[in-house]
Amino acid sequence: MGGVQIADLLLPGIAVEVDQLVLTDAEVRVAVLSGAVPAACSGCGRRSSTVRCCYQRTLADRPAAGRRERIELRARRLVCGNELCTRRTSAEQVPALTRRYARRTVALTAQLTDVALFLGGRPGARLFQRMTIDTCKDTLLRLIRTPPLPSSGPVPHLGVDEFAVQRGRTYAMILMATHRPVDVLVDRAAATFASWLRDHPEVRIICRDRAGSFRDGAQAGAPQARQVADAWHLLNNLAQAVERVIGRHRADLRHPPHLP
Ligand SMILES: [Zn+2]
Repeated sequence: MGGVQIADLLLPGIAVEVDQLVLTDAEVRVAVLSGAVPAACSGCGRRSSTVRCCYQRTLADRPAAGRRERIELRARRLVCGNELCTRRTSAEQVPALTRRYARRTVALTAQLTDVALFLGGRPGARLFQRMTIDTCKDTLLRLIRTPPLPSSGPVPHLGVDEFAVQRGRTYAMILMATHRPVDVLVDRAAATFASWLRDHPEVRIICRDRAGSFRDGAQAGAPQARQVADAWHLLNNLAQAVERVIGRHRADLRHPPHLP
């Protein structure tokens, strides 16, 4: 099997050339060379292919054939041609394979993060032990905290409610778009809600319960928005109104005829 075919199998879509493949009972060791393509300077982003020196970088990767996999990358240190750049040289990063200072491949980091988000630290670490991937709960918890929160995007229709952080003592505010959470605010104060709304002028409808702080926050932060009651409170109001009417006209109710 040629080098290019092995690279396609082990490192699909990554611009490296497999130089050597060593298979032992415990691990797969893959020596790779980065391509001859120019790489971006980590200081200014200008691309360069002027090599100052080469060095070896070892990266843990996802297991292959039931064994630990280790990538030994012969990486380049490139000279930056931008006279205004503060860096004279910079270590190249191979797209989709390396990140600065990382000792894992991008693919392995993504896998660790996914499992950490689904299972949490300790159960995730146990699973990886079975998969012959070396990690620990602290690493997984650190990865959970690392990725930036996804942007909520425009929220024309917003739901707001409170939830207890410590029942009876500390409450926070949760903001929802349709079927998905958008943000969590530290308390349920009107000023906090208004401040968030001022950063989101796209809000047109605010669905809330009868809490005064939500009403005041919405009026102050999003005067353009229409405030509506949520479905649960509408039904609750309706049920209470029906009970009141029936209570007032109890005397008018007749006993139902006996059925045969
Ligand atoms: Zn530069």
